[in-house]
Amino acid sequence: MTLDLVQYLVARRRGFGRKLLAWYRVNRRDLPWRRTKDPYRIWVSEVMLQQTRVAAVLDYYKRFLKRFPTVRALALAKEQDVLAAWSGLGYYRRARMMHAAAKEVVKRGGRFPTSAEGLRELPGIGRYTSAAIASIAYGERVAVVDGNVQRVLLRLTRRHEGDGLDFWELSQRLIPSKAPGDFNQAMMELGATVCTPKNPLCGSCPVKRYCAGRGEHVIAVRPERKKAALDYALVVQGAKVKLNQRDKKATLMAGMWELPSLPEQSRVPALVTRHSITTTDYEVRVHRSEAKGRWVSLNEVEKLPLTGLTRKILRKANLLRG
Ligand code: SF4
Repeated sequence: MTLDLVQYLVARRRGFGRKLLAWYRVNRRDLPWRRTKDPYRIWVSEVMLQQTRVAAVLDYYKRFLKRFPTVRALALAKEQDVLAAWSGLGYYRRARMMHAAAKEVVKRGGRFPTSAEGLRELPGIGRYTSAAIASIAYGERVAVVDGNVQRVLLRLTRRHEGDGLDFWELSQRLIPSKAPGDFNQAMMELGATVCTPKNPLCGSCPVKRYCAGRGEHVIAVRPERKKAALDYALVVQGAKVKLNQRDKKATLMAGMWELPSLPEQSRVPALVTRHSITTTDYEVRVHRSEAKGRWVSLNEVEKLPLTGLTRKILRKANLLRG
């Protein structure tokens, strides 16, 4: 039965694609990376959007491209400046890999590879990103699969997570040769705005006639989030603040700058904020107490690659604007 539902969908892929694309062209959100075919700009947006919401990416995207308008500008930049422009977006390995890939592109003459296969040879560019860039910038018929696409496909075929549906294969069979980039974006847009994790809007779904699930919530149970506390010292003197640089070989946020951390404190903190990293929600307590660190002028702080949490605290304390 389940196999039949996949076959049913594949057999109707033309109608499905037409409906989806017609809907997308009218309803798509107007986002800056949708107004370009420049592979560099598309790449930047795709990398930023991994693990980060659209609303949070918008400002970063504009600022990053202002700072590094071309792949050459990115390649020639210092790593510290790239990380500083990324500071607050998290998952800093993405920025380091982009920097490495930009250098590789420039080493090869400054032109991006023009196929998904060629793009995958660059550092940090995997199956998803290569397919997104190749389909949107070059019109290559190669499908993308992200969390949104997976959810849409599960519902369309009334399947459950973990029961072996090959998302990549099914997407590749559905994608049309005309406007594959729009099709990919339409699938992701449908998942983000209509076929949402909770309460999908099946009544206004453009592909409901092809959908076997129609509103069933075949989504995985999310792992329970953990709770923990962190204590930091905010030591300020005049226009200087104490910071420490993380170990350059640390597995997380290597080489980035942060406030001095403190052992667990029992005192009332001067400031409290919340911060989530992967599956843990932290209560972050900031104390006005002495701690070891390097004095850094507030003007310099703006240019350093700060951890997202440090940036958040300094903003809350009105010590940082950007
Ligand atoms: Fe998702 Fe509902 Fe559309 Fe099916 S009909 S694809 S469940 S929004």
